[in-house]
Amino acid sequence: MDPYNDDDLTLGSILESLPDPVVAALEVRDEWRRQLAESTAGLEFIVSDLARWPVGSVVRVAFLDGDTALHADVAAATAQIADVTNLALDFGVDPATGAHRRWRENETVLQAEIRVSFDMPGYWSLVGTDSTDPTIDPGGPIGGGPGQRSLNLGGYKTNKPQGWEGTVRHEFLHALAFQHEHQNMRGPCSNDFRWDSDPGYVPTTNANGAFVPDAQGRRPGIYTYLAGPPNQWSKAKVDHNLRTVEDPSAVAGPFDPASVMLYRFAPFFYKSSPSPCAPTGQGVDLSDGDKRGLQLLYPAAAEQVDALAAQAMQGLELMGVGAEGVDGPAGPAPAHVERLVELMAAHAASGR
Ligand SMILES: [Zn+2]
Repeated sequence: MDPYNDDDLTLGSILESLPDPVVAALEVRDEWRRQLAESTAGLEFIVSDLARWPVGSVVRVAFLDGDTALHADVAAATAQIADVTNLALDFGVDPATGAHRRWRENETVLQAEIRVSFDMPGYWSLVGTDSTDPTIDPGGPIGGGPGQRSLNLGGYKTNKPQGWEGTVRHEFLHALAFQHEHQNMRGPCSNDFRWDSDPGYVPTTNANGAFVPDAQGRRPGIYTYLAGPPNQWSKAKVDHNLRTVEDPSAVAGPFDPASVMLYRFAPFFYKSSPSPCAPTGQGVDLSDGDKRGLQLLYPAAAEQVDALAAQAMQGLELMGVGAEGVDGPAGPAPAHVERLVELMAAHAASGR
């Protein structure tokens, strides 16, 4: 079940989440980045910015399974994104046959930055350049390697859910470095979520084992509800997926209740009704805020590229390295250097 497009999220539905081993691998990497940022003044922007693909680049997409008609549907749904972004999504369509690019699990050379599958449960995607980060490798079918899935649309081969275009856009925005809108640090969601059960709630389950209101009508809170089947999330996992991302350096616009990155939760998830955290959009088309976010991350205008490059230059100077120092063994982590070099190239390309 799609938690996002379902207008009436009923008890017993599954929320979107990356499998635990993948999340664990991400946490190790993020901790490393945090320590790097703390040890290097002024690096915060660059670190948070690392998930973004190079401005103006071509991001290749490939499919593991599914037929050409399904591939074409997915590609068509992403056109709204490509239309407003200084970034090309390349599906590698063969002009003769109409076939889209494919990838295989035994591949050792990267065929595509975004590697789509339809064969695993649920809908999820790695965020931005995590999709090609070889350190994101929990040793399973999902990760940053050339033979690992980075984005999954479960069940699409047999049945595309209602509002499926919105789900495709939601996952592809993750793949282009977007986070969830309910975790926007400027948003109202953390304050309006009903984390705890109503006072005196007596744990009560339905036939499927899902927590439901008790005989007195007292409702389970989010922690209790999600601890039950089918999600069975620990408190840490609930926090990871639903709490606000407290990252002062994260690129975040104002909270946008029309964003396709905002979940529609069941009414019992919220304290107030109507909740300021509840989506106002249909969850299918990109909101104006989503489009502004895309333009912020992947600007087309030269002056915006310049602003990003200026920040990169500043970071480079604070790190005490020049562009000529990028090959030196004593330089900082290669990913950061690549990021700086890319931004400086964008700066140079903008002609200033
Ligand atoms: Zn999501």
